[in-house]
Amino acid sequence: MTNPLIPERLRRLPELAADLWWTWNSEAREVFRRLDYPLWRQTAHNPVLMLQQLSQEMLNLAASDARFLTTYDGALNALDAARNARNTWWQKKFPDATGPIAYFSAEFALHQSLPIYAGGLGVLAGDHCKEAGDLGIPLIGVGFMYPQGYFHQAVSPEGWQQELYERLNWAQAPVEPAITPEGQPCVIAVPLGSRSVLASVWRVRLGRVQLYLLDTDLEENAPWDRELSARLYGGDRETRVQQEIILGIGGVRVLQAMGVTPTVWHLNEGHAAFVVLQRIRDLIERGESFESALAEVRRTTVFTTHTPVPAGHDAFPFSLVETHLAGAWGTLGSYRDKFMALGDYDNGSGPMFNMTALALRTAGATNGVSQLHGQVTREMWGPIWPDVPDDKRPVRAITNGVHIPTWLSAEMLALFDKYLSPDWRDAHDDPATWDRVMGIPDDVLWGARNALREYLFAFIRERARQRWKDEHVSAARVVAAGTLLDPNALTLGFARRFTGYKRPELIFHNPDRLLGLLNAARRPVQIVFAGKAHPADETGKHHLQQVYRRAIDPIFGGRIAFVDDYDLHVAHFLVQGCDVWLNNPRKPLEASGTSGMKASVNGVPHLSIGDGWWAEGFTGDNGWLIDPKFSGDQDATDAADAEALYRLLEREIVPTFYDRDSNGIPRRWLAYVRRAIASVTPRFSARRMVKQYAEELYSTAAGKTTPV
Ligand SMILES: *Cc1c(COP(=O)(O)O)cnc(C)c1O
Repeated sequence: MTNPLIPERLRRLPELAADLWWTWNSEAREVFRRLDYPLWRQTAHNPVLMLQQLSQEMLNLAASDARFLTTYDGALNALDAARNARNTWWQKKFPDATGPIAYFSAEFALHQSLPIYAGGLGVLAGDHCKEAGDLGIPLIGVGFMYPQGYFHQAVSPEGWQQELYERLNWAQAPVEPAITPEGQPCVIAVPLGSRSVLASVWRVRLGRVQLYLLDTDLEENAPWDRELSARLYGGDRETRVQQEIILGIGGVRVLQAMGVTPTVWHLNEGHAAFVVLQRIRDLIERGESFESALAEVRRTTVFTTHTPVPAGHDAFPFSLVETHLAGAWGTLGSYRDKFMALGDYDNGSGPMFNMTALALRTAGATNGVSQLHGQVTREMWGPIWPDVPDDKRPVRAITNGVHIPTWLSAEMLALFDKYLSPDWRDAHDDPATWDRVMGIPDDVLWGARNALREYLFAFIRERARQRWKDEHVSAARVVAAGTLLDPNALTLGFARRFTGYKRPELIFHNPDRLLGLLNAARRPVQIVFAGKAHPADETGKHHLQQVYRRAIDPIFGGRIAFVDDYDLHVAHFLVQGCDVWLNNPRKPLEASGTSGMKASVNGVPHLSIGDGWWAEGFTGDNGWLIDPKFSGDQDATDAADAEALYRLLEREIVPTFYDRDSNGIPRRWLAYVRRAIASVTPRFSARRMVKQYAEELYSTAAGKTTPV
């Protein structure tokens, strides 16, 4: 560590490094790349850490390099504009909207240097916040600053996942203590059982948007309380309910301490539903009745549910909730039974206090995350509305989307700048913008696809080389890491949480058939896998082990790779660099899925079961639908789905990819690439999604039902 002095001319460099807005602004990224490219790569793109390790010489040089300074000034001007822009979409659409929107989530995936996310839910939350900033929506995120984050994944020689927790070094992360309007570091107290637990608050900047993250690791707290926020999804049920009390009740108190008065409260998943307890209590303290307080909370609360998998909905025994809520009631105490009834739900194993039920009964508007998931949610939670028929239940659908500036590769960005209309970035959620993708010349588009595949393999090889060099792993494991992958071969990507319903092993259903595909002379197929299993999901770990065993098995000829420690960084390379993105969940358990959207916008067509977003995203020619002709019980369904998958690969995908003209260009393939980009980018962008949240939910909750 050199901790160089920042030259006066580059005074705002630390500010630029600490505002995660840089992650989706190419000029700001360019600033750090140019400063010291090897160090940029070595720190996995962490500019806060970079600025500590950079040599004084390099910095001084940069401060007197005219070209560098132009980029630097440009990036800072753009940052100021992003923070303060007037006339944003939101301001134009809702000129008299007042207070901010509070967005509560247990995880946020913003960048790999801030490991406070596990997977899809966090990515969705992160993308939502980034897009809200781009649209000028005054959104404030509330979540946890887990000092040990989510685990890093290693894989044993036998293929078993090992979970490594690393303490985050605050000084190397883009966070800073939140300071109250009175000028003090923000610390709040949360009642937990008969004691009071303190939480300090960290601030993350994202241009116009900010996040406040709670952290109970304070000296004043008892050792076990300091550990409460240590890990994301780390502890047992008891830890979990306590975390959720801190997030919900503590989160409301953080906003009060920071002088923030939201007009809309958005609960992203049921984890934060105790927000409503604190809010009802506050309203009663101000003289309202329980009923009018509940009505007010309903009017201003928006809830998004994210999974049809029952285990994904937190439910606790009543006694556990009562124990830990003992100190939280205050004036709400006389309505305690009424409040507890709001969470009462029997999911088949007796009545429990169910966080999703609490949210469904206290939010004025609820949505699922795809059309299909909206429908599944209305059926699944029917008992909440005993007298309301299916299609009248108050659950709408807002299909997920991905933040385009975050997920689009630099290669595609450059092509779009050159071949689309000049305003394409602003108009990227307008389908008409994408007609011009058809005009990108074949050779140029193919060049970009090849470059992206090359980057992926360079990344994979470098990681394998590091393992070989630093950890002395066996040669078989170096192969399993992907070193024998062929940069010209058709590459399927499968990267997601390892869990039963996602069926990571489906493609191995008939090994001979798969081997035929992998080893076909002159038109081989290869597969790159990545993903973590939840620490408590033994089935998921078993699937991972089975996939890993194939990767090290010579029979598969080095054409199956497993890339460990899947995170945002790995995801970027994979969704951009593969040729086809494979997704084969057991329908209808995938609520939406988003990795296929990230792939499609980069010209990587989706090959998927018609579940989640693909049920509405597949147009017939922008990817492939795994559509079995018959099925029955689980085994029969797996067999039929696998059969449909093999047929698509054998008859359509492989022949199309390898059908080349005299210049070696796969013209028919590129038609898929174009249609994937043009059909998916506008409709499954976070821009379309967040506008929909704003128009359908935020504006109504804020009492602005008539946008101009
Ligand atoms: C996008 C993403 C996910 C979610 O992908 P799904 O398709 O929803 O499974 C999970 N993890 C990471 C790191 C991602 O980038």
